[in-house]
Amino acid sequence: MTGRKLHIAIAGAGPAGLAAALYLKRDGHRVTVYERFAEPKPLGSGLILQPTGLSVLADLGLLGEISKLGSRIDRLHGIDAESGRTVLDVRYDARPGGRFGIAVHRAALFGVLYRAAQREGIEIVTGAQLDVVELGEQARLVDATGRSLGSFDLVIDASGARSKLRRSAGFPTESKPLAYGAFWASLDWRGAGFDERALTQRYRRASVMIGVLPIGRAEADGRKMAAFFWSLKPADAARVQAEGLAGWKAQVAGLWPECQPYLDQIDDFEQLTLARYGHHTLAQPAARGFAVIGDAAHSTSPQLGQGANMALLDAAALAHALRQSSDVDAALVAYVRARRWHIRLFQALSLAFTPFYQSDSVLLPFLRDRLVATVAKLPPAPQLLAAIVAGTLIDPFAPAGLKEADWTERGEERSARIPA
Ligand SMILES: Cc1cc2nc3c(=O)[nH]c(=O)nc-3n(C[C@H](O)[C@H](O)[C@H](O)COP(=O)(O)OP(=O)(O)OC[C@H]3O[C@@H](n4cnc5c(N)ncnc54)[C@H](O)[C@@H]3O)c2cc1C
Repeated sequence: MTGRKLHIAIAGAGPAGLAAALYLKRDGHRVTVYERFAEPKPLGSGLILQPTGLSVLADLGLLGEISKLGSRIDRLHGIDAESGRTVLDVRYDARPGGRFGIAVHRAALFGVLYRAAQREGIEIVTGAQLDVVELGEQARLVDATGRSLGSFDLVIDASGARSKLRRSAGFPTESKPLAYGAFWASLDWRGAGFDERALTQRYRRASVMIGVLPIGRAEADGRKMAAFFWSLKPADAARVQAEGLAGWKAQVAGLWPECQPYLDQIDDFEQLTLARYGHHTLAQPAARGFAVIGDAAHSTSPQLGQGANMALLDAAALAHALRQSSDVDAALVAYVRARRWHIRLFQALSLAFTPFYQSDSVLLPFLRDRLVATVAKLPPAPQLLAAIVAGTLIDPFAPAGLKEADWTERGEERSARIPA
């Protein structure tokens, strides 16, 4: 923001909240992050940082650090478990430019952002669950115990898909629950039979999807890990558990025998986290003195792997808009405009693609396996799919004030551990 330094509160120390805090502190604002957990910690297993999210991390000077921990991904590869036919084969290099993804343990992404926030002296108040924001001349925050945390020039809601602040500010909150979720686990990486540069999946129709994603290390001295997932309806989880671990493992191994070294690491259903997915998109993720970013503004199934990347883009776009205008509310209008079409497009694509991979439909996986798999090989489909996965189908960078990272450059930022 030109001149005026703001007093800003951020709800949530996830990727969106921490990235926003870094940008805004560096721009000279007074920033406090409030996190509900007593100790900030990431939930869940792994995720793919796309060229979009990686460009934000490069802009924050953190690409080198995350590169050292994560695992470079060049390809998404899926096979029908019964026929052995390849039904998904997306390669980032179908388009020129040298793009790739980096799959990371959530703890790695969290650690990189959190350490940077600590280095910058950003105040992070833990054990603070923000439930109410009262909008007005200044935005007033109230925590779950009813205690007032004071008034701010700007409150940023980065508290994730189940945000309470959003509701208290009068935003529509209904997230549509999606039929399928997944069991997720972080396991030790076992290379045999797996491409270390790929997200590899097996399907049976759209009701079964198994995935193995190499995610590198959670910490610099940690072991190499993989995210393992098994798609299922949350409503069926209790039945699957009651039927016993041995039966479930036999089912997975029957469809994908190479998974045995991963299954051998699972002794208890407790090791599997049940993730539920929902879908919502706020049409107008801002109000007077209040901005909503990340999953609080838009969440969806992780089928296209864009959520954390969009959260990072939101943080960059909001900081950019605040830099461009001396009026907070004008900046918020610019933030909403900057992100609108990219968010709408990718939320729509995610909603359209998900049932091909996670649904009870018989027709959609039939089309996927026969028609789509063939068409996907014919130009321009490979280029289009690469742009969808990379998150770059429309330009996400310029409206957020970003330059895409130079993937071909061998600069200091690029780690020698990510060979081209
Ligand atoms: C199983 C799974 C796999 C995924 N895979 C991918 C992938 O491959 N690629 C990808 O880009 N995305 C993926 N995603 C989506 C991605 O995880 C989210 O989009 C991303 O974490 C959103 O970041 P965020 O900071 O907006 O929210 P979150 O990560 O949810 O962080 C919100 C933070 O706010 C805190 N909080 C919540 N409520 C309050 C409150 N009232 N007061 C204070 N603090 C609060 C929480 O404790 C948390 O720390 C996946 C998601 C799931 C569930």
